[in-house]
Amino acid sequence: MRLGLIHVAQETCSFDPTPTTLDDFRAFGLHEGSAILERCAEAGEVGGFLDVVRDEPEVEPVPILRAFAVAGGPLDRATLDFLESRLREGLRRAGPLDGLALQLHGACAAEGEPDVDGRIVALCRAHLGPAVPIVLSLDHHANLTRRMVEGATAIVAHRTQPHDVRETGRLATRLSIRILRERLRPVVAWEKLPLLAHQEQFPTDRAPMKVWFDRARALEAEPGVLACATFPMQPWLDVPEAGWAVAVTTAGDRASAERSVRDLADLAWSLRHEFQRRDAMPIDRAFERAERAPPGLVVLGDVGDTVLGGAAGDSPVLLEPILARPNTAPALVPIVAPAAVHAAHRAGPGARLELVLGGELSGFFRPLVVEARVRRLGEGRIRLAIQWQDVVDHGRVALLEVGPALVLASERRGAGGVSPELWRAFGVEPRDARLVVLKTAANFQYFRPIAVDVIRVDTPGPATSDLASLPWKHVPRPIFPLDPIEDRRGSAR
Ligand SMILES: [Zn+2]
Repeated sequence: MRLGLIHVAQETCSFDPTPTTLDDFRAFGLHEGSAILERCAEAGEVGGFLDVVRDEPEVEPVPILRAFAVAGGPLDRATLDFLESRLREGLRRAGPLDGLALQLHGACAAEGEPDVDGRIVALCRAHLGPAVPIVLSLDHHANLTRRMVEGATAIVAHRTQPHDVRETGRLATRLSIRILRERLRPVVAWEKLPLLAHQEQFPTDRAPMKVWFDRARALEAEPGVLACATFPMQPWLDVPEAGWAVAVTTAGDRASAERSVRDLADLAWSLRHEFQRRDAMPIDRAFERAERAPPGLVVLGDVGDTVLGGAAGDSPVLLEPILARPNTAPALVPIVAPAAVHAAHRAGPGARLELVLGGELSGFFRPLVVEARVRRLGEGRIRLAIQWQDVVDHGRVALLEVGPALVLASERRGAGGVSPELWRAFGVEPRDARLVVLKTAANFQYFRPIAVDVIRVDTPGPATSDLASLPWKHVPRPIFPLDPIEDRRGSAR
């Protein structure tokens, strides 16, 4: 049984003007053929695929392409063309396949192509023909589209946020093997919802998201149901087919698939007002709460500059109030600032210089002029042990002393500083700090064990929770909450 493997993932933020290029994919590892097994065996969805096939002597893994880039602006055309040509060539070289495990993000857009993932599904389907099962696994923040559903044999998605991407890889691979072994002919039913929501209620460990995801797990336990995938689409994708969705795959019973889809869509719609609840704190209140915290490390989540949601990581919005509060020392602040990194490397360790921090890439923020001392300089690839990746290229890095803050300026976004290992790589122990800024609204799992408090701060930026403030152009209207809709079936979809 020859089972192909393709992993292509990038989550696009339409409001981040910096295009994602091939360099961004290379920074996270772009591999073809057997190199995928050597380089990616221990992490992410590819690791999950290998976990399963290792125990299945009958299954011959046929790795084709692995391309991952951190969330960001739309892919430029050259990157899309490159990925497409490598996919075509890889599928051709792979020879006949019995099935394909197709691991995509599902919310990737490119210059001139609002649905990169749908395009990849269609390309694979055209190459393999109608009979070869394609099990499509997606991030649950995907924007499910018609092309994806039409090309896929079965659809699975992450079940938790923070995501367990390795588990999704295992699930989809087990399902691929089962479909082949039992010669199943699955059917997929689906529905789009005219619904968007910011990310603050996205964690799946509490209501309302937990209520929705728990229902999907309950329906999956029914006989003949292969997968129930619920898609609270990431909220910064401005494309014509945007919106939340549900997809249910059964072993052939269409009526049962449709029933489960309706059940899950109705439940999400009934919770739509709860999904809009905002609980990130205004900046002043966040600092007051941080001051009251017991001794130890306080984490501040810079919600508007969420790097894993596609923001540029160049916001100085939390650095500015830190500089005005000497009692926050030592405060650790990551920022993407290529020009400052360049200047620091030219000046050398120990140098004192005036630097401009912030707003360099996104165009969202007023730059901050600071007096800095260069503590340390570094290069490139840093071991982070985050779950989808073990090494992340941050470009060149400069560790800067700026008032009460230690600023880690980098050329690339990395993972938004979500892992304490980033600081340890430069000789800084986060446990000894008072504050640390993370460019995230949800991925606190690596810092939580060493923090006395975690505070999400309502900051501006390309990943803002204030969806109505974003310059939407392409989403289908009407869509809640941008438009008042009571009956979703009356919304002409
Ligand atoms: Zn996601």
